[in-house]
Amino acid sequence: MTSTWVEPSATATALLLLGRGSDPATERGVECPGDLPAPSDPELVARATAAKAQLGDRVFVLGHHYQRDEVIQFADVTGDSFKLAREAAARPNAEYIVFCGVHFMAESADILTTDQQQVVLPDLAAGCSMADMAALPQVEEAWESLADLDLTEGTVPVTYMNSSADIKGFVGRHGGVVCTSSNARRALEWAYQQGQRVLFLPDQHLGRNTAVLELGFSLDDCVLYDPHKPNGGLTAEQLRDARMILWRGHCSVHGRFTLDSVNDVRERVPGVNVLVHPECRHEVVRAADFVGSTEYIIKTIEAAPAGSAWAVGTELNLVRRLALANPDKQVMFLDRAVCYCSTMNRIDLPHLVWALEELAAGRVVNQITVDAKTAHQARTALDQMLALPGTENRPPSGAR
Ligand code: SF4
Repeated sequence: MTSTWVEPSATATALLLLGRGSDPATERGVECPGDLPAPSDPELVARATAAKAQLGDRVFVLGHHYQRDEVIQFADVTGDSFKLAREAAARPNAEYIVFCGVHFMAESADILTTDQQQVVLPDLAAGCSMADMAALPQVEEAWESLADLDLTEGTVPVTYMNSSADIKGFVGRHGGVVCTSSNARRALEWAYQQGQRVLFLPDQHLGRNTAVLELGFSLDDCVLYDPHKPNGGLTAEQLRDARMILWRGHCSVHGRFTLDSVNDVRERVPGVNVLVHPECRHEVVRAADFVGSTEYIIKTIEAAPAGSAWAVGTELNLVRRLALANPDKQVMFLDRAVCYCSTMNRIDLPHLVWALEELAAGRVVNQITVDAKTAHQARTALDQMLALPGTENRPPSGAR
């Protein structure tokens, strides 16, 4: 990865990413009168380097694509949540897996690694607002509502990887499957071979986008289940007629992009390619030129011709690194407003240093464990996903 930032153009987004100049539309003239601290405290960098060296092969550090640079520099491997869980599983000799990501990812790593390995999340407050939108008691209650209507028999639960271990366990218990943004289509195709209806958790946008844009469903085939309302706010007839019951959950980062973001960037940058993640709203995905997982987004930008312009609708740390790594292309953030994943960004260098130094001193901190029963049930749903034909991190879709 290159270390120098080359400004793609004097757009408002570039100014925001650079942290210099001003963008009156978004920054409102805010100034910092003093000296800014170094982005990575050199003393903390030295401490992290020393602790990691002391641990050697006993530790394996995973870094999600949305992590900040000061953390990602210590990752042994970077990737999306699924790739990282598989990387952890492929390192049975690493005693400690330090997961620089969010809570549900560390849970998946614990499920997929051996009992001898310990998974550490440097800051326990690093959760995921989307995963938190589907709590097990809510999902159990929804299932009971479906049972009261005799609908569970033909309903297959499918959960996005971005869900807690107990939701994955619920899905495993009820004959369903886990999916990623890369294999959601294949997971749904499998589910519709098992039943006529899917309960999709917890991301309504990924579920809707896949059902409508990949499987050819109509929007009317999908209903939105609100866990805060009796029967999800739906009538018995609506639930019975639905082919896709979408849980009312969303990503607070990708859900921020709007149709205005797309129209605005097209107006500002003629010929720009709009590339978005399928966690974005349906109208945004429809208006985009390309859609796919974070791995797909990275590969698409890397393969793009020099001189091409890309407005990317995903987390800002990743977009910024893509812009740095591809100075021959104009890579910009899709929206004018900055949009980090605030929970992912809770993992910072001080927390990483603390976790590594504690491990080096023989103390395991912030260990993430999933109880054996839940892990077994979740593993059933994960194994079902791994058994889907062609399940690798293959891009799902591509050009629209
Ligand atoms: S980007 Fe969205 S889905 Fe990913 S961890 Fe953050 S809130 Fe959760």
